[in-house]
Amino acid sequence: MRARNGDKAITLLFNVTPALFDDYREPIRDALRDRKIEACVGLLGEIAPADVDYIIHATGGPITDFAPFSNAGAVLSLWAGVEKIVGNTTLTQPLCRMVDDGLRQGMVEWVVGHTLRAHLGTDRYVCQKPLTWEQHVPPLAADRSVTVLGLGELGSAAATALAQLGFRVTGWSRSAREVPGVRCLAGMESLPQALASAEILVGLLPQTPETIDLLNAERLALLPKASFIINAGRGTLIDDDALIAALDSGQVAHATLDVFRTEPVPPGHPFWSHPGLTISPHIAAATRVSTAAEKIAENIARAESGQPLLHVVDRTLSY
Ligand code: NAP
Repeated sequence: MRARNGDKAITLLFNVTPALFDDYREPIRDALRDRKIEACVGLLGEIAPADVDYIIHATGGPITDFAPFSNAGAVLSLWAGVEKIVGNTTLTQPLCRMVDDGLRQGMVEWVVGHTLRAHLGTDRYVCQKPLTWEQHVPPLAADRSVTVLGLGELGSAAATALAQLGFRVTGWSRSAREVPGVRCLAGMESLPQALASAEILVGLLPQTPETIDLLNAERLALLPKASFIINAGRGTLIDDDALIAALDSGQVAHATLDVFRTEPVPPGHPFWSHPGLTISPHIAAATRVSTAAEKIAENIARAESGQPLLHVVDRTLSY
């Protein structure tokens, strides 16, 4: 990693939508505090590409060819998921994704909320009017098995919170992980075991070639009968048709999805009308400007002082 003269002004280029430029320009400038900022531009054409020191990136920005930014020390993503940019062959600069306390806490709250909703059978009473006076007493959390697919920044935080509530939590990841209170499994060979104990299945995996359609008909059949699915990782994790079939057969009791193959979900898509589905519009965990600006500034400060960047995406793994 290059170390630069701390007195030299830094040139930032925002490869984001105009709205995000407005949201982030001042908070990032403020977070950089005593650094001299030479330019903080949002539009290509205001600056020579070779003069750009760092590119702040989010899907929807105008730049798709990163080759001219030959002196850029890093491309810093405002989002945690990088599947739309990681395969860009013009991007040879280090690519860092967003890992941020606001994002993590938001996801923990969303996952815990929907897990409790499934566990307690809340929909049965909320949605049924008039109510049939039938008492379906839920088990205690200690008698409910939850599996979290993905034990990264978000998955391990969600698994920890669920374990602290008393759920029997299994976590599954690519490489071996240790999360206190969580039974951790790793690798494809243990996926059937992870699915078999998933009365409630939480998806927090990134989109990579390995995770696309991971939950196909064959794997959905490995879940306990009438299980619940909660997916906030990426929509490509689940084969849409297989999910509809599993809901129709009762193999899956209900699915709560925050992420989809196409967003927004197109009009007429069967997900809109299926009674076994809850759809939320990719709001499980948002990047929060105040905390994210600090993270961007922290990585720039690290690069400027020759320290390794944080949260660098491994291009060979796509996440
Ligand atoms: P992360 O820290 O990179 O963790 C990813 C986890 O997935 C790791 O545990 C990783 O295994 C595991 N994994 C990856 N490929 C795998 C495979 N082939 N088999 C098994 N496990 C695999 O990511 P994160 O910060 O937790 O975020 C996860 C995803 O959430 C993001 O990529 C993004 O798509 C999504 N997200 C959604 C929202 C929303 O609002 N819905 C918000 C933020 C993020 P290892 O531990 O072995 O590396």
